[in-house]
Amino acid sequence: MPDSHLDVFVVGAGVIGLSTAIRALEAGFDVTIFAEWFPGDEKNIAAASCWAGADHVSGIAASDDLMYTLEKETFDELMKLLKKDPLIPVMVRPHMRYTQAVRPDDKLKNEHLSRFYSDFRLLNASELPETVVCGAMFSTLCIDVPRYLPYLMNRFVASGGRAFRTKLPSISALFSEKDRPPLTAFPATTSTTPPTFSPVPVINCTGLGALSLGDVLDTAMYPTRGEILIIRAPWANRDCTFHWEDGHTSYMIPRQSGDVVLGGTFQPDDWHSHSRPETVQLIKQRCIQAFPELLPSGTNDLEVIEECVGFRPTRKGGVRLEIGSLAGVKIIPVVHNYGHGGAGYQSSWGSANLAVELLKSVVQASNVPTTM
Ligand SMILES: Cc1cc2nc3c(=O)[nH]c(=O)nc-3n(C[C@H](O)[C@H](O)[C@H](O)COP(=O)(O)OP(=O)(O)OC[C@H]3O[C@@H](n4cnc5c(N)ncnc54)[C@H](O)[C@@H]3O)c2cc1C
Repeated sequence: MPDSHLDVFVVGAGVIGLSTAIRALEAGFDVTIFAEWFPGDEKNIAAASCWAGADHVSGIAASDDLMYTLEKETFDELMKLLKKDPLIPVMVRPHMRYTQAVRPDDKLKNEHLSRFYSDFRLLNASELPETVVCGAMFSTLCIDVPRYLPYLMNRFVASGGRAFRTKLPSISALFSEKDRPPLTAFPATTSTTPPTFSPVPVINCTGLGALSLGDVLDTAMYPTRGEILIIRAPWANRDCTFHWEDGHTSYMIPRQSGDVVLGGTFQPDDWHSHSRPETVQLIKQRCIQAFPELLPSGTNDLEVIEECVGFRPTRKGGVRLEIGSLAGVKIIPVVHNYGHGGAGYQSSWGSANLAVELLKSVVQASNVPTTM
């Protein structure tokens, strides 16, 4: 399955679109990606993937069966890739979770984490920093985002995928000569000939774009604003989260490059796309207190190289991973794969697996025309 090559369009080239497109190629489909933003472009507020940390720390939301499966499959897949090629931009690191005040859901959280990460353990009192009342540690994965996205793009292209840059007013515009915006072939793809635009299945991986695409208009989508700092600290070798007594969370995520991501904020429905000076100061002060090893020796300030803001593509009711239809269009089968909020990296391969399973069932059910 499929027995002859079948065109499939993927809309979106963030971590979800790329992982899904790779999986669809591996399943034997001829895949073309259409997107406004691609890895290698300047960072863009409309593409969450370029702003992420990113680490794999399963949240309590993953205690529901779907998210648990998506995150588990992703963890296992990244470990498998790392075993095959230790040079891929993913690192195994110890994760420390510090809490300043015991909160009602702590017990549940620890139970969830211990189910998920095989070496999870609670820290002894002697291992806790001053002011911390409880802590836990386990091994997890840190993904070096500026290297990982081009790695995915290169993998897609090397496997024969095609890609075109375009900003779509709607998904169905792809199939209308009158409404289709101009397309520019992604430079590195081997084939720059656009596919035939007869109705073929589409996988919608547009993240927050699903809010404004004319035939999706998913009003359950909203941004969760994340403000972060990127600093130089090549000596940092652990991934940490620090939950403050006042409810604020600080985190540090080391990258292979020696940069470290410091966070941060989780601000629902806040569309402010630039950093706020007071938030920058807050992140700095808190991270210096929580993770003092980040200060370069003999100094009392961090070496900040970038202040960033990204919008996590969040969805009321959780990720949309299902067969759907486009408003007003019956002939185009569509699989939706968007709304991953703050967990798109850690659920990417699991989401891709499920989206391709759904794609196969769409193809079987709809008798879509083949290209060969
Ligand atoms: C500060 C921050 C920290 C984060 N940390 C983590 C972390 O530690 N771990 C983790 O797992 N996740 C993390 N995330 C979340 C993660 O980044 C997202 O869940 C993930 O990037 C979503 O990927 P996506 O491919 O669905 O969407 P996006 O990356 O937003 O990609 C959307 C794609 O669709 C295209 N598109 C949209 N609309 C259109 C249109 N109309 N026409 C053409 N193309 C269109 C865009 O151009 C883009 O290519 C973090 C996010 C932020 C902001």
